[in-house]
Amino acid sequence: MSGSANPAGISAGLGFDLLAEDGKARRGHLITAHGPVKTPAFMTVGTAGTVKGMTTEQVRASGAEIILGNTYHLMLRPGTERIARLGGLHRFMNWSGPILTDSGGYQVMSLQELRRISEEGVSFRSHLDGERHELTPERAVEIQDKLDADITMVLDECTPFPATEEEARDSMERSMRWAARCRDAFNRRPGYGLFGIVQGGIYPALRQASAAALMGIGFDGYAVGGLAVGEGQEIMFQVLDATIPHLPRDRPRYLMGVGKPSDIVGAVQRGIDMFDCVLPTRSGRTGQAFTRRGSVNLRNARHQDDPRPLDPDCPCPTCSAYARAYLHHLFKSKEMLGPILLTRHNLYYYQELMAGLRRAIEDQRLDDFAADFAEQQAGGDLPAL
Ligand SMILES: [Zn+2]
Repeated sequence: MSGSANPAGISAGLGFDLLAEDGKARRGHLITAHGPVKTPAFMTVGTAGTVKGMTTEQVRASGAEIILGNTYHLMLRPGTERIARLGGLHRFMNWSGPILTDSGGYQVMSLQELRRISEEGVSFRSHLDGERHELTPERAVEIQDKLDADITMVLDECTPFPATEEEARDSMERSMRWAARCRDAFNRRPGYGLFGIVQGGIYPALRQASAAALMGIGFDGYAVGGLAVGEGQEIMFQVLDATIPHLPRDRPRYLMGVGKPSDIVGAVQRGIDMFDCVLPTRSGRTGQAFTRRGSVNLRNARHQDDPRPLDPDCPCPTCSAYARAYLHHLFKSKEMLGPILLTRHNLYYYQELMAGLRRAIEDQRLDDFAADFAEQQAGGDLPAL
């Protein structure tokens, strides 16, 4: 489907249908220029125009409907204008489905020594060649437009943790001024959307003020940012409880950079619709598998003679064909097939988890699903042979 497609029923912006609710949890349907997305959804991270080690056919086969691209990495290499000349990010990386891009702000802010923040925006030096770049709210929107992102994120400052209330307020208020500038710069068209990002640290009053400010500007969706930065799951859930009731019911909600499977289950119960995280891919490269019995480290010597699959109930191509002993061998030998096979399993696991959550919401049994999930995770891995 081309970027100029006009999905039925969307006059401007993104479509979002709420199909079912179970408690605070929602089962929905996002409609973008490059196709629909069932929510709650997990967005697989394709940092530099690739989900590391996976072809896009393999990503699609895992059940992924939408992926995330990192503006910071793409703007530096191969460069925004080059990707635009080559037909946009979908064509460049051979992914015909929806793409959400981040604003680049998170990576730039984390450069510490190399960046300078002002009211205008952020000025930074590339970690690749030291060249100086400017990222303003207007430029961040322009870059994502050139990449042809279905969902564009506003430039914001991810407030560090810990931060005092005063620091969190100053940071949040500047992010809200930047959000308004992003809205003005955004080229509104059918199937494409701009998401605002709620900030405010761990302070409920600031989170509510941020949500109100964003709703006053008006966005296609609302993200919760500044979490999963070291505050822990309990505080993260408290912030969600204090924030989500203040977001509009009829627009998608995205929890950025989250998370572990248990984070996702708890956040879905609190009303989040979209997630992204590097965990399934990054862990897949280091030998850590996510399974319904918790996480499993394939480097552990207990697997070296184990002929069983990683998870006998997993439908993924890795579990259908390969033994734990073989996966262990690949990681011990540093063979590239190890990260490929394990990433593939982890992507399936995350998508299976999301499919299970969606079915549970449809059937009004999400609390039972969450209880079963927690019990299985606590039970631990298969006993050693
Ligand atoms: Zn598997």
